[in-house]
Amino acid sequence: MSIYWNRRVVALSPYIPGEQPLDKTLIKLNTNENPYPPSPRVIEAIHRAAGDELRRYPDPACTEVRMAVAERYGVTPEQVFVGNGSDEVLAFAFAACFESSCHQARPILFPDITYSFYPVYAQFWDIPFTPVPVVEDFSITIEDYKQPSGGVVIPNPNAPTGRALSRTALASLVRYYEQTQEGRVVLVDEAYAAFGRDLEMASLTREHPNLLTVHTLSKAASLAGLRVGFAIGNPGLIQGLCRVRDSFNSYPVDRLAQAGAAAALKDAAYYEAVNQKVVATRSRVAQALQDRGYEVLPSQANFLMIRSPSQGGLEFFTYLRDRGILVRHFKGPRITDFLRVSIGTDAEMTRFLTHLPPPTDTCRGGEFPDGP
Ligand code: PMP
Repeated sequence: MSIYWNRRVVALSPYIPGEQPLDKTLIKLNTNENPYPPSPRVIEAIHRAAGDELRRYPDPACTEVRMAVAERYGVTPEQVFVGNGSDEVLAFAFAACFESSCHQARPILFPDITYSFYPVYAQFWDIPFTPVPVVEDFSITIEDYKQPSGGVVIPNPNAPTGRALSRTALASLVRYYEQTQEGRVVLVDEAYAAFGRDLEMASLTREHPNLLTVHTLSKAASLAGLRVGFAIGNPGLIQGLCRVRDSFNSYPVDRLAQAGAAAALKDAAYYEAVNQKVVATRSRVAQALQDRGYEVLPSQANFLMIRSPSQGGLEFFTYLRDRGILVRHFKGPRITDFLRVSIGTDAEMTRFLTHLPPPTDTCRGGEFPDGP
């Protein structure tokens, strides 16, 4: 707190990102990064871009990346917006698509257990919002969102649960909003969609002008360090995002990032192979955990949300951390007993499984079956 902050800054509750530890010996399973390296073509493209041309500003329109996205998703470059990580794209999308409370806007809707940046963006732009409770098994009921609102944000798969909605269910929501909620946007955050089965919705943006899909190269393209995300939508909606960007910073994506991102988008075969490995490891680990009595939410993402049969969430987190394994614990009424575990390499996940506490080590919540 400082006397030099304005009231707006005093009132903020910023997002707290997952830890990026300096200790490189930890097995890092806490921020859903891809355990496999980026495509060699990405590294070559970045090397090529790291030359004399760095004197010059990058292409503000990210033309090459937009063309590569258009090709990959079967849309036109006018339907694509590129930003500095999907966090920035989401921030701009909130600003461009949702009305603030000074215009007596209806609240936007998103799940109560979801990516914790959404309420931060809403608060930053003064957008009213109503969290919609997920069901007891952490699934989302699409019908709950079919009501008058200021718009909808749904990650598919959801984070941190990993649970996914079908494309059919989401398409029915998009149609409902198109037919009954004029001017209201359905934003689908597909950060983890590449790890699921038939989830991608971007092609539907051609028919539905109210659908905006948001994507990142951080997870499925092993490029969290490069900071590139993008949105796909109707050209008018995309122009709205450009207006917001150009009111902040016209060059958010640097030359190296644009070169690397375009190369990644063009090397689908490499990433398909890598992500299939992640999905195979996810199945193996989920099964191994269930065999030992852990609760494992069905995941279509590159992480598992798990509950120990014997330890509370924080206790389990500390137990693993003491053994050199870093996972993510969230404080929150229904998820505090769970840990989110990103899928690492097969070797890392084998070590993770080896370090789990023996079945009778402790009891959840400090309760002992035969008295204290
Ligand atoms: N959406 C969701 C659901 C996420 O979990 C994340 C990663 N924290 C992001 C968006 C942002 O990803 P990035 O900014 O790295 O593109």
